[in-house]
Amino acid sequence: MANAPYRGRFAPSPTGPLHFGSLVAALGSYLEAKCHNGTWLVRMEDIDPPREMPGAADAILRTLEAYGFEWDGPVLYQSLRSGLYDAALTKLRNDGLLYPCACTRKEIMDFAMPGVDGPIYPGTCRDGLPPDRVPRAWRVRVDAAEIIFEDAIQGTMRQNLARDIGDFVLKRADGFFAYQLAVVIDDAAQGITHVVRGSDLLDSTPRQIYLQQRLDLPTPSYAHLPVATNIAGEKLSKQTLARPLELAQPVSALWQALDFLGQQPPQALAGENLAELWKWAVAHWHIEHIPKQRAIVAQDASHVSATTKP
Ligand code: GLU
Repeated sequence: MANAPYRGRFAPSPTGPLHFGSLVAALGSYLEAKCHNGTWLVRMEDIDPPREMPGAADAILRTLEAYGFEWDGPVLYQSLRSGLYDAALTKLRNDGLLYPCACTRKEIMDFAMPGVDGPIYPGTCRDGLPPDRVPRAWRVRVDAAEIIFEDAIQGTMRQNLARDIGDFVLKRADGFFAYQLAVVIDDAAQGITHVVRGSDLLDSTPRQIYLQQRLDLPTPSYAHLPVATNIAGEKLSKQTLARPLELAQPVSALWQALDFLGQQPPQALAGENLAELWKWAVAHWHIEHIPKQRAIVAQDASHVSATTKP
């Protein structure tokens, strides 16, 4: 994909309003796309209704607008794309790579070793369901080939799916599609050449590359940004009470996000208007200035709700 025109994306899950951590991911992906004269798409990853918050998808888009982000083309909603995800499952099934799994979360926890992203599935249902068990989820069979990729920020990454993850779920027991499947289908469907996102997804990337290979889809380039954490080292999120971005303060939040990403914005820029801030940001963006770290404590305590302040 080296010579294809740059196509990047921001893919929020509408589990709550945007906060400083999601602003960092939006900003990093946007500025990388702009610096390559590329296209920047927004995809709403609304395939996990139990975790979603009513109104969050619209609130996210309004916040992006208020902050001056301009996306190309219509927003893609994953909730409308089940047919494509089902077609991919059918292909994997026909290729003998998909199998039904009857294990409950508790059964897995009782037998599994801890892996890099939760318990390593011990393969209980791999060779067929035990008698009298009913299928709950659908898993893809992995192998022990090492998956290696070069991350533009974090460097060379390696993972052995059999050792570190195990066969993973593509369709959940509650009937919803797994993020790992939907993201792979849509990155390909949208022609994404470059994925820029938070390093909390670094350990997911080998699963996504594996699926791309099995589904004959191209592998984009990856750059995983440091994630913003609170002083306890927890990623800013709804669970850790990250404060929603204020619609009225775009310049100061964007200035802080530029600073967080190592771009060294001049102090005076914090007092400028939004147009000036964006002009500076596009002209001075350097991906190589981003700290090569998985996580950084967000300095400004205002990113976190009062209840979690020290
Ligand atoms: N929807 C995912 C999230 O908000 C991000 C997916 C991605 O960038 O690949 O964490």
